[in-house]
Amino acid sequence: AKSAGGNRYQFYSESLNRNAIRQLEVENLIREGLRDDLFEVYYQPKIDLKSGKMAGMEALVRLNHPEHGLIPPGDFIPLAEENGLIVEIGEVVLRKACFAAQKWRRQELFEGRVAVNLSSQQFALPDLQQRIESILRLTQLPPGNLELEITEGTVIKQPEKAIKVMMQLSKMGVSLALDDFGTGYSSLSYLKRFPIDTLKIDKAFVDDIDKSDRDLKMVDSIITIAHNMGLSVVGEGVEDASQLSILKALKCEEIQGFIYSKAVNEQAFTELLRQEELL
Ligand code: C2E
Ligand code: CA
Ligand code: CA
Ligand code: CA
Repeated sequence: AKSAGGNRYQFYSESLNRNAIRQLEVENLIREGLRDDLFEVYYQPKIDLKSGKMAGMEALVRLNHPEHGLIPPGDFIPLAEENGLIVEIGEVVLRKACFAAQKWRRQELFEGRVAVNLSSQQFALPDLQQRIESILRLTQLPPGNLELEITEGTVIKQPEKAIKVMMQLSKMGVSLALDDFGTGYSSLSYLKRFPIDTLKIDKAFVDDIDKSDRDLKMVDSIITIAHNMGLSVVGEGVEDASQLSILKALKCEEIQGFIYSKAVNEQAFTELLRQEELL
C-alpha cells in the first residue's frame, strides 16, 4: 500500500511538472508574441436578421506563430488572464481593431461598430478610460463605432463598482454588450441598472435550441426580458438553418456564427465587406 501511495505521488508530481512546463511554454509564446507583434486580429461578422446584412463584427485574437502556426485564444487567454499579460494583449487587439475599423470607414466599406472583448483585468484598470480614449485618438475611430464586450462574469463580481465603470465608458460614447449571457447568473435587478445596449446569448444556449424545449424556453425568456429592458440581442454560435429560423421567430436582432462566416483575418474580412457592397 505504501509503494502504491508512493507511485501515486510520483504520478501526480510528474503531471504537475508537465503542467508547469506547459504553462511556462505558453507564457514564453505570449511574451514572444508581444515582442515580435505576432498577435493578429480576426473578425467575425454579426448579421442583422431583418435585413440579412452585416451589422457589425467582433474582433477575435489569434497568436500567429512562425513555428506553431495559428494558435487560438482558448490556448493562451486563460493563462494570460492569470498572469496579467491579457492587459497588454487586449491593448494590442483594441488598437488593431480600431485601426482596421477606421480604415474600413474611410474606404466606405463599413459604418457600423467593431466589437472588442474586454477582460476582467482590463475592466479593473484604474486608467481604463484614458487608455481607451488614447487609442480612439490615435486611430481616429469615433467612439460610437466601438463596442466593448464584457462578460457577465466580469461585472457580477463587484456589480456596484462595475456599474460606475460602465457608466464612464457609456458617457464616452462607446457601446457596451454583455457577453456570454446566461453563464454567469447575473441578477435581473442588476441587469436593469447596467448601462448596456446589447445582450449576447451564449453559444451553449443556442446549440440545442432546435432540439431541447428547455433551451428554447430559456432563450425565448432571455430575449423577452432583454427587449422589455430596451436591449438588443445577439445569438452566438449559430451553425445551422434551424437555429437561425428559431432565433428569427423569437425576434432576436442579430446573429453571429459559422452559418454565415467564421472569424477571418483583416484581408479576408475586407473582401467580405467588398462583396457585401455588391449586394
Ligand atoms: P467569445 O467572446 O464568446 O467569442 C465567440 C467565440 O465563438 C469565438 O471563438 C468564435 O470564433 C466562436 N464562434 C463563433 N461562431 C461560432 C459557431 O458557429 N460555432 C463555433 N463552434 N464557434 C463559433 P474564439 O475566436 O476561439 O475565441 C474564444 C474566446 O476567447 C472568446 O469567446 C473570448 O472569450 C476569448 N477572446 C478572443 N479574443 C479575445 C480578446 O481579444 N480579448 C479577450 N479578453 N478575450 C478574447
Ligand atoms: Ca465576445
Ligand atoms: Ca460570447
Ligand atoms: Ca463564449
